[in-house]
Amino acid sequence: MTRIVRTRAELRAALDRVERPVGVVPTMGWLHEGHRALMRQARAADATTVVTIFVNPRQFNVADDFMRYPRNEARDLDICTAEGVDLVFAPPASEVYPPGFDTVVSVGAVARPLEGAARPGHFDGVATVVAILFGLVRSDHAYFGQKDAQQVMVIRQMARDLAIPTEVIACPTVREPDGLALSSRNVHLTPAERAAAPVLHRALVAARTRWAAGERSADALREAMRATLAGEPLAEVDYVSVADAAMLTELDRVEGQALLSLAVRFGTTRLIDNESLGAEPAVG
Ligand code: AMP
Repeated sequence: MTRIVRTRAELRAALDRVERPVGVVPTMGWLHEGHRALMRQARAADATTVVTIFVNPRQFNVADDFMRYPRNEARDLDICTAEGVDLVFAPPASEVYPPGFDTVVSVGAVARPLEGAARPGHFDGVATVVAILFGLVRSDHAYFGQKDAQQVMVIRQMARDLAIPTEVIACPTVREPDGLALSSRNVHLTPAERAAAPVLHRALVAARTRWAAGERSADALREAMRATLAGEPLAEVDYVSVADAAMLTELDRVEGQALLSLAVRFGTTRLIDNESLGAEPAVG
């Protein structure tokens, strides 16, 4: 039976009685197959699976994006039940940030480029809320999607630096059959934009194919992504990146592990995707 709790006190009481290890899947709701894959991974490894559902206002750098972020708690709870989740923590903002709350967790270098540069304040909001959730859930494992590769790196850095004993586990990106990475934001795409959106994945595949054929110039790989994106008139490029897998600094040449990533706007909807290059997944 999936239990839903909404306050810190209820969560603490519920967690007192559960079997360890505990796995947590932090989400902002509007759950899809990507989230479900994380839940399944938690269920396979942990005695107790906790899902958190909280649309965190502090990680939205644009107020309008927060307002229009899709929400459907009833449907989310059905999905958690279907996945055999033990406990759902769906708090109001006042339980996450009680009156007098006055701390920001700000991760350094790895949080600065890419999404950190494009969305000022975003990773402060992410690191702060995840630190709170880790403190509340005291999970043994936490599951995050490789779809947000930089987020995984930021959270790992935060957990390591703050001596939080939760192990951060990255899970592969779940995609639609046409390659589009599942995202709650996909719901905002118009039919024409939805038809255009797989170009993100095609751009990553184009660069990966060049790399697999021996191309090591990062500029050539960036150009392969840009050329693919240029073929799609609805796609407005925010950035394309070929960065080292450890610190996400832009590369001249790809010698070791690297992360290809990109952010593209379709109308008012901004989508991101990434792909790892190298023997091992760049994050994982
Ligand atoms: P969100 O609700 O968008 O904040 O995402 C919650 C978690 O699900 C994050 O760790 C995301 O990286 C992960 N996630 C989102 N989309 C996908 C996907 N398509 N495949 C795998 N994980 C995903």
